[in-house]
Amino acid sequence: MLNKVIDEQLIQQAKKIIDKYDNIVIVSHVSPDGDALGSSLALSHFLNEIGKNVNIIMPDNFPEFLKWLPCSKDIILADRKKELAAELIDNAELIFCLDFNTLSRIEHVAPLVEKAKAKKILIDHHLEPDNFCDISISYPTISSTSELVFRFICRMGMYEYITKKCAECIYTGMMTDTGAFTYNSNQPAIYYIISELLKLGINKDEIYSKVYNDYTETRVRLQGYALYEKMKIYEEYKTSLIFLSLEDRKKFQWKKGDTEGFVNIPLSIENIVFSVFIREEEDYVKVSLRSKGDFPSNKFAAEVFGGGGHLNASGGEYRGSLEDAIKHFEKSLPLFKDLL
Ligand code: 5GP
Ligand code: MN
Repeated sequence: MLNKVIDEQLIQQAKKIIDKYDNIVIVSHVSPDGDALGSSLALSHFLNEIGKNVNIIMPDNFPEFLKWLPCSKDIILADRKKELAAELIDNAELIFCLDFNTLSRIEHVAPLVEKAKAKKILIDHHLEPDNFCDISISYPTISSTSELVFRFICRMGMYEYITKKCAECIYTGMMTDTGAFTYNSNQPAIYYIISELLKLGINKDEIYSKVYNDYTETRVRLQGYALYEKMKIYEEYKTSLIFLSLEDRKKFQWKKGDTEGFVNIPLSIENIVFSVFIREEEDYVKVSLRSKGDFPSNKFAAEVFGGGGHLNASGGEYRGSLEDAIKHFEKSLPLFKDLL
């Protein structure tokens, strides 16, 4: 039997709201990752099964390697379909906010959700969620929002409405948020849930392959270039940095998601416990941070790059040039030496 995590009262309150309303919108965070997409699609497959009218809205596009996910092509990208997104959010009776803890994570979609009259339910696993929903199903000890969606559906007593497609989406989110079960993945319940998903017919090996073994040639070459030419090691600080400019990205025909996972690679070097990836975007600099063990990458992200996230996986940004972002990073490293 699966251990109980979600508070019974929250389950009952959420179930009552779901029973009452038919017109539902699911929203997830900017630069959607496997868990944002997996949890949103899984929940929408389930809600469709029980007869609801559901639309998924994401602030912007998601990586190529997630495009095989069942029904991902139906997702409405709010940066391309502003009016439709606004209309759907405005007319929704119920809005699910998945895989984010603060409205700023949905960027230009935030004002729409904030002023919507719909009931709002949060399902998320990030620390310290803001209070912007009527019901907050927030459990930071759980490694993915997709796992919470599985738990949520089961606890409502509706396991039978989890289809194979729904199960595939749940598995994808669980897998991608744990680096294919290599971090944040020691809770036995994860493997109980996977066994249930296997019984529902998912092919976990095939899902792994679709996500991690389907890169373009230029993506793999960009990885080689980034590691050979654009990686610095700060031995004294057990830290690594990869930095890429817009020009680098152009040279390798960069497409959304092509640099996903780069930041994890330097952690495979002995003694490196903190890895940072800085990449130039059109109008700002994006920063991804990862750590091994106790080093709080999220504290570094918050204090140095105005961001946040989990202990071992976080992000932030820098307003300025790539060169200045690197200088700012290098200047800040000594301040965290005691924690390394
Ligand atoms: P990634 O490096 O994959 O973009 O992000 C890793 C994690 O860091 C995300 O799951 C999210 O929790 C957090 N994160 C990424 N970017 C930001 C940001 O700009 N602000 C905050 N608060 N969190 C971020
Ligand atoms: Mn997540």
